[in-house]
Amino acid sequence: MRVAMRVGVMGAGQLGRMLALAGIPLGIRFVFFAPEPSASAQDVGDVMLGAWDDEKALTRFAESVDVVTYEFENVPASATDIVARSCAVWPPRGALMLTQDRLHEKETFQSLGIPVAPYAPVNSAEELRAAIARVGAPGILKTRRFGYDGKGQVRVDTPEAADAAWGAVGGVPLIYERVVQFTRELSVLAVRASDGTRVVYPIVENRHRHGILRCSMALAAGMDDAKRIAAEAYATALLDSLNYVGVLALELFDTDFGLVANEMAPRVHNSGHWTIEGAETSQFENHVRAVCGLPLGDCAPVGCSAMFNIIGKEPDIAHVLAIPDVHVHMYGKSERPGRKLGHITVRTRTPRELSERVAALGAITTIS
Ligand code: AMP
Repeated sequence: MRVAMRVGVMGAGQLGRMLALAGIPLGIRFVFFAPEPSASAQDVGDVMLGAWDDEKALTRFAESVDVVTYEFENVPASATDIVARSCAVWPPRGALMLTQDRLHEKETFQSLGIPVAPYAPVNSAEELRAAIARVGAPGILKTRRFGYDGKGQVRVDTPEAADAAWGAVGGVPLIYERVVQFTRELSVLAVRASDGTRVVYPIVENRHRHGILRCSMALAAGMDDAKRIAAEAYATALLDSLNYVGVLALELFDTDFGLVANEMAPRVHNSGHWTIEGAETSQFENHVRAVCGLPLGDCAPVGCSAMFNIIGKEPDIAHVLAIPDVHVHMYGKSERPGRKLGHITVRTRTPRELSERVAALGAITTIS
């Protein structure tokens, strides 16, 4: 098979940029569709500007490529439907719909036997009080749609806090879920090709600050076999039930009683950035391979890796690169508080070297 494809990406941020950086060596070209110009994407492909409801622009975009994917899950399904009239869109519509509604997502997890925190849908202050009585407190009240990185959610410590919580996020469809007592947060990334073949990356441990991912440790230390097998089974059950094509990320809470699923993302994921240097085939290359109908690559780790997000402010790159085994990825974005500007992956041969390099990085930056 000759690979001279054009892949369209809806969205034009760092995930699209890294998809292109992985696909270009395979002879694939990239066209991005986004409402605004993007420094991240324009270095690596053509950017077509248009609104998500601009039927003409979306059709022109779809007709200029062989297959379309997306790099964020809040792309309107109506936009992917317009694109789908002209070419295939992967991951499939069902996966996108699922991740756009936390209630639908939880129900699907449950139907597949994937454990979730106790929850209840909430559409009024009365329903919230009833949900707290039924599900228990403390809990978290979340918007069903358009929540990410901890946005659109409020903690409810006691039943008395119900009205204040409703005041903070109420007025839109919500879900109330009990707080999970977890020891750490994990994620598992899995990939499915169009012929149904699947591969799964090793589970990683993720550390957050202010709701934003700071660091992923690959591999998660001390994963017992039962939990590893369960995580892989959950991810592959989702892939198969959705007839999925591409990379899927499943975020999990690790608890003393087993794994509890938090949410999934139908796309390449920040907790998989370490795979660029730390795995035989990166998540980006495997996603591109999957949507282009190509065979998937090996997910085995290469050495020990830790990934740190560069958030808000750029460190002195020359100082960072003076540390051995360090790899820097900048996304072409300007500094702004809370913004993901790039990431650093440290990849070493041994866990001891990894600790040493991470300590050296911590000594010259605020990253680790
Ligand atoms: P989310 O937007 O659902 O990914 O939530 C953002 C973060 O809030 C997660 O990474 C967790 O740290 C925390 N969180 C969300 N839901 C729960 C829960 N049910 N129990 C405990 N922590 C949670």
